[in-house]
Amino acid sequence: MKAAPFAYCRPDSVDEAVDVLAGGDAKVLAGGQSLVPVLAMRLGRPGTLVDITRLPGLDSLVVQDGQLHVGAAVRQRRVERSAEVAAVPLVARALPFVGHRELRSRGTVCGSLAHADPAAELPAVAACLGASVVVRGPGGERVVAAADFVTGAMTTAVGPDELVTGVRFPVAGAGEGFGFAELARRHGDFALAGVAVRVRGEAATLAAFGVSDRPVVRELTLDPDPTEAGLRPVTDALAAEVVDTDGDAHGSRGYRVRLLGVLAAREIVRAHREAHR
Ligand SMILES: Cc1cc2nc3c(=O)[nH]c(=O)nc-3n(C[C@H](O)[C@H](O)[C@H](O)COP(=O)(O)OP(=O)(O)OC[C@H]3O[C@@H](n4cnc5c(N)ncnc54)[C@H](O)[C@@H]3O)c2cc1C
Repeated sequence: MKAAPFAYCRPDSVDEAVDVLAGGDAKVLAGGQSLVPVLAMRLGRPGTLVDITRLPGLDSLVVQDGQLHVGAAVRQRRVERSAEVAAVPLVARALPFVGHRELRSRGTVCGSLAHADPAAELPAVAACLGASVVVRGPGGERVVAAADFVTGAMTTAVGPDELVTGVRFPVAGAGEGFGFAELARRHGDFALAGVAVRVRGEAATLAAFGVSDRPVVRELTLDPDPTEAGLRPVTDALAAEVVDTDGDAHGSRGYRVRLLGVLAAREIVRAHREAHR
């Protein structure tokens, strides 16, 4: 099947992009790795595509004021291969799990956030780290906490007349440790379940993905010397609470609960060890 006809627009400024979006029936085109299949299957029929990939000012990738700033036109693979990504180890660890290398060489970090697939890695990482998403619309700029950004499956706090211009991830501080793991049937597939973890002292933040309609974030207080076996009753109970799916052909709800409990315990211990090294 081919996409329905659409107009194509490559604006010269963010203001122009916002004007076109405000006209209605328009969609932002970033890497196209999710949008183009949607168009080809006619699951969406926007009247106009607003191509932001060459928009001046959206291609910055810089560490500044304790944050890694990633502009909306920055491709996932560029971040993965950059020196800057070392400042945010959780992003560095998660990126190789985002689809395949070929997809990451076109797909953008902000496009992944805006697409908001429930099994996507980057929205969970952003929520776990307390990242900020910068959004521009007709009323000006606003900043949305990543934890509030995804509002449901494939749904975000971004209005149809708004554009994500960038995301800011906090740089890792001394004494922080991180864990990331997921299970997919094949590498590059969307995860059946996954976790992103940050530990500071005995405080852990865990974001689970692939188990609900959006990333689920929980705070935990750890023992001074946590072990996987010791944590399992806690993470198993947490998994039973947060897994919110009936299951599908790839795994039942019960399987995902068990998987999440195991991954969470393992990655919390790993992150705790790293934090106290
Ligand atoms: C075979 C396959 C496997 C994949 N596996 C994974 C995976 O394992 N994990 C994963 O996370 N992703 C996966 N993806 C998706 C991939 O990561 C996409 O790159 C990503 O979801 C979207 O990024 P994009 O830049 O290509 O956005 P696009 O496809 O251009 O856009 C996606 C959506 O976001 C909107 N959008 C994009 N940028 C903005 C913006 N700046 N402001 C407002 N709205 C915007 C678009 O309008 C569109 O609705 C996979 C894709 C494929 C085809």
